[in-house]
Amino acid sequence: MINMTNFSDRELLHYITCDDADEMADLFAEARQVRQRHYEKDVYFRGLVEFTNYCQNDCLYCGLRRSNTAIGRYRLNREEILDCCRVGDSLGFKTFVLQGGEDPFYTDDMLESIVRAIRVEFPDHAITLSIGERTQESYRRLFSAGANRYLLRHETANEAHYKKMHPPSMSLANRKACLFALKKMGYQTGAGFMTGSPFQTPQCLLEDLRFLQELQPEMVGIGPFIPQSDTPFASYPQGSLNLTLRMVALTRLLLPNSLIPATTALGTIDPQGRELGLMAGANVVMPNLSPQEKRKLYALYDNKICTGDEAAECIRCMRLRITSFGFVPNMGRGDYRK
Ligand code: SF4
Repeated sequence: MINMTNFSDRELLHYITCDDADEMADLFAEARQVRQRHYEKDVYFRGLVEFTNYCQNDCLYCGLRRSNTAIGRYRLNREEILDCCRVGDSLGFKTFVLQGGEDPFYTDDMLESIVRAIRVEFPDHAITLSIGERTQESYRRLFSAGANRYLLRHETANEAHYKKMHPPSMSLANRKACLFALKKMGYQTGAGFMTGSPFQTPQCLLEDLRFLQELQPEMVGIGPFIPQSDTPFASYPQGSLNLTLRMVALTRLLLPNSLIPATTALGTIDPQGRELGLMAGANVVMPNLSPQEKRKLYALYDNKICTGDEAAECIRCMRLRITSFGFVPNMGRGDYRK
């Protein structure tokens, strides 16, 4: 039995770097038990709407970075976003996740009107935003308009590492400040990071875990780094499945009540990656509700899966796979449980 309440730095580093199959199996089993204690065997479905692939930032690992001229850009208007939500609702989703690059085209007024329209039409659904760093005033307005949750991965909590992955215009301090502000405002807040990103060390991952403990986010997204061919990091190797699974499990043990997605990136590096993520303590999946013809353009990294199927088909497939691993698909809101 792993003593999960008070991991020392040394113990955490041991698990971060551990490649012993038996020890890993014990770690994952423990994480599954903890997840089951808080959320039973449920796996929550979130409907993802990727509504803009424009971004003003230039993160070195991301295919949406503004310097990438090789991708076609798109934006969805309010009606198109609402249509995606309507499709999601008809399929049973109770959470919509509106995700995009940092795109100043969408002013606070526009976003407020989009969130309000979704809130009016779907009063009982959870609205999650994932649209990057904005002003506190902007976050406040969107919360008042009806948004409930906000995802903003910190990507790495190590200052020197952050600088190697981002342009000088971006700062880890601001990212962290945004996360604390979101939480204080009442959003269910999601942080998260990549595993195996260029220049990452075990110490960086330890700092990620310690930062999560400090922030106490309700959601944590963890996915492997996957190179995108039109970025400066195109030739770096991708993050490993096992390291990602270990970080999912450790996060589950340190933040027992958190909602942790089995990410699409995990499913991209291994055909059973998402299911293995659930076996290591994750409890959320995010099928794509974006218009089919736009999905390939949301090219955060290469070879992204699930860009071709209809949303309904995608959900059918995911349900079957989840059930075959002994978990229970749950289309409810799946709010954070204290
Ligand atoms: S990671 Fe986010 S902020 Fe950075 S370039 Fe990609 S979409 Fe923009």
